[in-house]
Amino acid sequence: MSDKTKPSFSKALFSGVLLDELVFPYPEMEAEEAEDLKMMQDTFKKFAEDNIDSEKIDENSKIPDEVLNSLKELGFMGLSVPEEYGGFGLSATAYTKMFELFGGVDPSLAITLGAHQSIGYKALVLYGNEAQKKKYLPKLSSGEMLAAYCLTEPGAGSDAAGIQTRAIRDDKNGVYILNGSKIWITNGGIADFFTVFAKEEIIDKNGEKKDKISAFLVTRDMGGVTSGKEENKLGLKGSSTTEVFFEDVKVPIENLLGERGKGFKIAMNVLNNGRLGLAGGSIGALKVLLKEALGHISQRKQFKKTLSEFEMIKEKVAQITIDLFATESMIYLTSGLVDSGEVDYSLESAMCKVRATEISWIGLNECLQMVGGLGFMKEYPYQRYLRDGRINMIFEGTNEILRMFTALAGIQERGQVLRKIGTALKEPIKGYGVLTDYAAEWIKGRISTERIQDVHKSLSTAKVQFETWAKNLHFSAERALMHNGKKIIYREMIQKRLADAATDLYAMIAVISRVDSLITKKGEEKAANEINMCTIFCDQAWRRVRRNLLMVDSNNDKGMSKLSDFIVEEKKYPFEA
Ligand SMILES: Cc1cc2nc3c(=O)[nH]c(=O)nc-3n(C[C@H](O)[C@H](O)[C@H](O)COP(=O)(O)OP(=O)(O)OC[C@H]3O[C@@H](n4cnc5c(N)ncnc54)[C@H](O)[C@@H]3O)c2cc1C
Repeated sequence: MSDKTKPSFSKALFSGVLLDELVFPYPEMEAEEAEDLKMMQDTFKKFAEDNIDSEKIDENSKIPDEVLNSLKELGFMGLSVPEEYGGFGLSATAYTKMFELFGGVDPSLAITLGAHQSIGYKALVLYGNEAQKKKYLPKLSSGEMLAAYCLTEPGAGSDAAGIQTRAIRDDKNGVYILNGSKIWITNGGIADFFTVFAKEEIIDKNGEKKDKISAFLVTRDMGGVTSGKEENKLGLKGSSTTEVFFEDVKVPIENLLGERGKGFKIAMNVLNNGRLGLAGGSIGALKVLLKEALGHISQRKQFKKTLSEFEMIKEKVAQITIDLFATESMIYLTSGLVDSGEVDYSLESAMCKVRATEISWIGLNECLQMVGGLGFMKEYPYQRYLRDGRINMIFEGTNEILRMFTALAGIQERGQVLRKIGTALKEPIKGYGVLTDYAAEWIKGRISTERIQDVHKSLSTAKVQFETWAKNLHFSAERALMHNGKKIIYREMIQKRLADAATDLYAMIAVISRVDSLITKKGEEKAANEINMCTIFCDQAWRRVRRNLLMVDSNNDKGMSKLSDFIVEEKKYPFEA
């Protein structure tokens, strides 16, 4: 990120500062781009209706070659490739909307397309030099080459810094010799272009030798690249997932991507980028399955009434709708931020990924529940969407790791505040005083007066709920820091609550901003449903925030940890009734 980068709304929130200029008005796509996007969406919908049979893809564990070839011809492999290299150069918003559509039609297909462009060649788009881009992007954009992202190894999953794949630089011959293996690589069996992360020995400024991660552009035709057998998975059966082996692969030095030793940052930034597409795909799947379930519950009768007339079914339909609306608001607020220029959106994209994958999982499960036994039958799509959706909470950063990231990055606020906390964290005893001074300064100063801009009167309760609990997030985060000092990095149960509270607050502001803009555009009466959703969502959300923040200070964490240690030691549930 450059110095021009605008601050993150949510990171500032942890410091009690409401940067409402970043989130108001709700972003809107330019008319011309919206028109292009609609054409692209219509083309894909028509193609999917005629050619994509998801039941068969799941049954045969394969996307037919004809389908992939046609998608290549239609240009769907180059959505994020800049136009000068033959792609569509879509904005983050248009790109995410396309992935929403793909995720709804067929999650296996969405992940194949996503692994190719959200992560497979994204590092090249973000960090490649002109020669590298000219050489590979046109082929990747046309689909002549398919891409994969190779980070995970048997010993390095969440702890990606622990990778063992090694690159040895041979300056004399102008190559790196790459050795190692990667597991569970999406597109592993069908890709010919791999963004590979490997360790190399680098001499640092002090003349010391250090192992650092670098990123490499590797192609199958370099020789020494082989794929393992296709994994037999719970879901996403149509997508290719294999081990990929690199044995004495001679990678030309010019295929080093970005700076030597900066590969870990590249790997993480690519994932930051990919997360919005995954979030879009997750809500796309839920929208489609909800539609399917609605068809059933509005015609199936029990007790002489249709299922949709029962209150518990109504609650499910309403809750799924509200969760979709709120999550969609977060996602497209974030994509709008990305499109608005250089902005730090790492926290927001992580929050979107966590929230979207979880409301999707819960919602898909509720759709299955609403249709009863029928949902368990293989000839209906419910079980397939549920199986396909399960992985979303695991890959591209597990939701646990992303919660840790959200809380810790939030706590480490920018600028002077960051430096103060940074010093305090390094010197927890002396730092206590610094933190206390800092807290007092903020409590007396800006925090108590922070407000967001005026919104339509129908949203004023939601606005006050947001402001009140935003302030409390800041106080709770600060207390957590004061009480735990440096050890906050190990207090994951606290991190989880702070992350969930911050996510709810971001969702609240996204919904308020979206509905406020909508009222301005079409009037209060026509926005009645959206106002209702905003009211209900914010009412639900602040209660969750309150619960999470109260439990930052008062909780059973010690007891929970102790119990877990005991059970792990016992290696089973040891109690008998
Ligand atoms: C279908 C599929 C496709 C994939 N595609 C790719 C791909 O294209 N490229 C690629 O590089 N990788 C890919 N992966 C790998 C994926 O990114 C990893 O599975 C993921 O990063 C998690 O690593 P792990 O499975 O080793 O779990 P682990 O890291 O072993 O974690 C296991 C559990 O422990 C939790 N955990 C770990 N550390 C902590 C902690 N500090 N605090 C709390 N909880 C913790 C995790 O959240 C998780 O719940 C894919 C995986 C699958 C299943």
